[in-house]
Amino acid sequence: ESAPASNFIRTLIQDDLAEGRHDHVVTRFPPEPNGYLHIGHAKSIVVNFGMAEQFGGDCTLRFDDTNPEKESQEYIEAIKRDVTWLGYEWKGPVRYASDYFERLYEYAEELIRGGHAYVCSLDPETAAQYRGTLTQAGTDSPYRDRSVEENLDLFRSMRAGEFAEGEHVLRAKIDMASPNMNMRDPILYRIRYLTHHQTGDKWCIYPMYDFTHPLSDAEEGVTHSLCTLEFEDHRPLYDWVLEHVTPPCRPRQTEFARLNVNYTITSKRKLMRLVDEGHVDAWNDPRMPTLSGMRRRGFTPTSIRQFCDMVGVNKTGGTVDLGMLEHAIRDDLNRNAPRAMCVLRPVKLILTNYPEGQSETLTTAVHPQDESMGTREVTWTREMYIDAEDFVEVPPNKKWKRLSKGNAVRLRGGYVITCNDFVADDEGNVTEIHAEYDPATLGVNPEGYKPKGVIHWVSAETAVDLELRLYDRLFGVENPGTDKERDFVEDLNPDNLVVLTGCKGEANLASPRTDIPYQFEREGYFFYDPEASSEDRIVMNRTVTLRDSWAK
Ligand code: ATP
Ligand code: MG
Ligand code: MG
Repeated sequence: ESAPASNFIRTLIQDDLAEGRHDHVVTRFPPEPNGYLHIGHAKSIVVNFGMAEQFGGDCTLRFDDTNPEKESQEYIEAIKRDVTWLGYEWKGPVRYASDYFERLYEYAEELIRGGHAYVCSLDPETAAQYRGTLTQAGTDSPYRDRSVEENLDLFRSMRAGEFAEGEHVLRAKIDMASPNMNMRDPILYRIRYLTHHQTGDKWCIYPMYDFTHPLSDAEEGVTHSLCTLEFEDHRPLYDWVLEHVTPPCRPRQTEFARLNVNYTITSKRKLMRLVDEGHVDAWNDPRMPTLSGMRRRGFTPTSIRQFCDMVGVNKTGGTVDLGMLEHAIRDDLNRNAPRAMCVLRPVKLILTNYPEGQSETLTTAVHPQDESMGTREVTWTREMYIDAEDFVEVPPNKKWKRLSKGNAVRLRGGYVITCNDFVADDEGNVTEIHAEYDPATLGVNPEGYKPKGVIHWVSAETAVDLELRLYDRLFGVENPGTDKERDFVEDLNPDNLVVLTGCKGEANLASPRTDIPYQFEREGYFFYDPEASSEDRIVMNRTVTLRDSWAK
């Protein structure tokens, strides 16, 4: 991998180090465990872990678990797996914002004692009215001037479970007239009687994200808190919290643009709907832009990291072409995928001059441009399969590079054959092709005639049956969900999955590699799917086609 390109965050960290503001970089990746990670999160992972890596620093993994009703252990496990799979190691143990609940509570009391927070007892509707609008200042809560003693007493009673949900909240005392709505006495704590996946029933008050996040960062010694642009107008609150208590250090928040990819979506909430409503099979359905779906489809960690590097880090959002992601995986697989032959629409080919019952083993490269990947063996027999699309009775034009009656082609890695006859059914579908092979043509050109082209094939006698799942874009429109008149599920591409059964793969595919997709010659990249396969069925997912349509 090449040296990382410069970007404004890299420059900012360089300056901080050069000017002695920090001597060790600490970042964090803070997912909320309320869904699976998607390609957008990959960018955040690559930015946070990548920056730490480039500067010899550390990156922590912290679950932002302040909304227990939407969170679960399943998501926690999936997220850890995905970060590890991308090739990153977090510093120290996995953290949870909930690890800091006791510390956060102490910070909250510190705010109260400093006169910077109060218990507010407005009902939610009234509180919303008091908040004002973008064009109109808010109104101070009548509870804003409660004494420190009263606030401490109420807050402790909130913790002790003496009130119902919604009865009181703890709010920061900032400025109800601030043009930034986030600064209008934001809620710091609310009462929720919920069993938390980490802390059980220990707490019935839960801190809000804007209070939790800066203090969790500080507790972990984070120097650079890198997040997406929607947090830009939360930054004043991030700083306010750190300024009004005594944290162990002063992290700094910097925002960059979210990653969006066309023909797909990067929103956990919408992805969850696709799963819940059965538009896809699961979070790791190979059509999903989740890291687990992409992994199952055959994307490699290298390709995803490469893609994120290509996208870069900047302040202006925008949508990236899906072709760029496909380019990144093709680039990796073209270099590293082992080759194999597989016939997707098999038709029988009989070599009439090859003796029945005889066979020979041909040795061919695993990768034509990389000798270090070694060789593989394929079997030559009298009965073969070739692709129905590789044969016509009469060539449609002079450019036809495949088989036709009376003409010759080479079977890749094998001999040259000449077709002399074929059998068709009542509808005109070719059911059997007859040809003669030329025994003098293994690895050498024939004398006196020229084959039209090279096609792939498998021995009918040793072939393995495969089910191939051909995926296309998840959505049929470039920017799904942007038309307010339509529900985004209406934008799904109805042809995003085509299943082909009875495909014929070379015998080596009987126990396919599980670490990397294959390039099926002339067809595309395919990855074994252990989850969909069973004892008597091998299922492979098409990662991507061979053709690269992405224009740089
Ligand atoms: P979603 O809207 O899909 O629920 P989120 O931002 O709520 O996403 P989190 O679990 O909070 O999801 O995300 C963890 C980190 O990943 C955050 O710092 C967030 O900024 C970042 N992130 C999420 N989506 C993207 C994206 N599309 N591009 C870049 N970073 C992202
Ligand atoms: Mg979030
Ligand atoms: Mg979210």
